[in-house]
Amino acid sequence: MACCDQPGLMPFEQGLDKILATVTPCIETETVPLQLALNRVLAEPVSAKAQVPSCDNSAMDGYALRLADLTPGIALPVQARALAGHPVLEALKPGHCIRIMTGAAMPQGCDTVVMQENAEVTEAGVLFSKAPPLGDNVRRAGENVTERQVVGQPGQVLSAIDLGLLATVGVSEVLVVRKARVALFSTGDELRQPGEPLNYGDLYDSNRVAIHALLKRLGVEILDLGVIADDPDAIRNAFKRGDQECDFVITSGGVSVGEADYTRDILTEMGDIDFWKLAIKPGKPLAFGRLEHSYFLGLPGNPVSSLVTLHLLGSQALRQFMGIGHQPLKRLTAISLEALKKSPGRMDFQRGVWRQEDGEITVSSTASNQGSHVFSSLQNANCYIALEQDRGPVKAGESVTLWLFDELMK
Ligand code: AMP
Ligand code: MG
Repeated sequence: MACCDQPGLMPFEQGLDKILATVTPCIETETVPLQLALNRVLAEPVSAKAQVPSCDNSAMDGYALRLADLTPGIALPVQARALAGHPVLEALKPGHCIRIMTGAAMPQGCDTVVMQENAEVTEAGVLFSKAPPLGDNVRRAGENVTERQVVGQPGQVLSAIDLGLLATVGVSEVLVVRKARVALFSTGDELRQPGEPLNYGDLYDSNRVAIHALLKRLGVEILDLGVIADDPDAIRNAFKRGDQECDFVITSGGVSVGEADYTRDILTEMGDIDFWKLAIKPGKPLAFGRLEHSYFLGLPGNPVSSLVTLHLLGSQALRQFMGIGHQPLKRLTAISLEALKKSPGRMDFQRGVWRQEDGEITVSSTASNQGSHVFSSLQNANCYIALEQDRGPVKAGESVTLWLFDELMK
């Protein structure tokens, strides 16, 4: 049976579209010094006010001269010394040369630099063995960045390279989108903190630390509300606080249909929330919508499901809010080295390791058990093996589509 024939299951793309259509980009901005702008999102275009380099300068330590004055074997007297930061302002006299160091501005009248290895200093002046091409070893004004060149665009996440380029054109501070604030909590009476003893049937709250880490990679501010018991008042209070203080409230657990899953009822009271059964594996139950002041994302409790749905859907909601917009994962086609279990009906995001050898891209599964509770299936993975909804079992040697992990999962 094809997925879309299954009542109540929503295809992945449809869920993503709904999320992107619901979240409005944040329009609040702040100015930050360049040193603090790594990973921040530019809020306005930035263009160079002046060209870089601002003037022609030397690419070598050597001698600046007028090429027409150079005759091999005839010494040119040294008129002056030009250093980086200490330009020679007088014009070159005919039949002379100027000692010049890398980065020093080309003195007026000079058109070429001869590197010092090709020059010999004598009492009469400097001897040159042969004539270089005109303009040799001169860096031209504007060669790096031209005047008014755009060096930053709104929505751009500033990298080390971007910051270097902005500094190159003299930008000292940038207007960025303010950081998104995210409240985070886990729900479940069975959850214990790592380090605590476990009672029979308990398990460690692994989701929160993994979600926290992925959110950190996104560069958001996190209000970590810990584990909230399966108790209506406690859950309501946590939602209220998150909604008042943050742009997003993200929870794990309690959104599937289960006896102690109060989250649903409280949310229905507090906001406009959809409870989806997505046609994806892992991660069927997912809640998304608006509370009074914030957006809510209710991730499934199963550990693989919670991280994978945060990665595939939640991060896109946040990027949309942060002004970055949708950033689909890079895709590749690969040959599966193994047979993969799959039944039609849901889109699978199995965890795999891809490699390229002799031009061929192959993938193997990280674990034969791809259950949504098997967190170790994420270990060492570098991609999802994204198996289409309608697809059945995959034989070894068949082509599959990979969605490559980005920096959020590393
Ligand atoms: P739930 O969505 O609350 O019904 O939880 C589904 C499954 O995920 C159950 O086996 C839970 O024990 C488990 N689970 C829920 N929350 C977490 C968590 N924070 N860390 C690890 N496992 C969890
Ligand atoms: Mg639960």
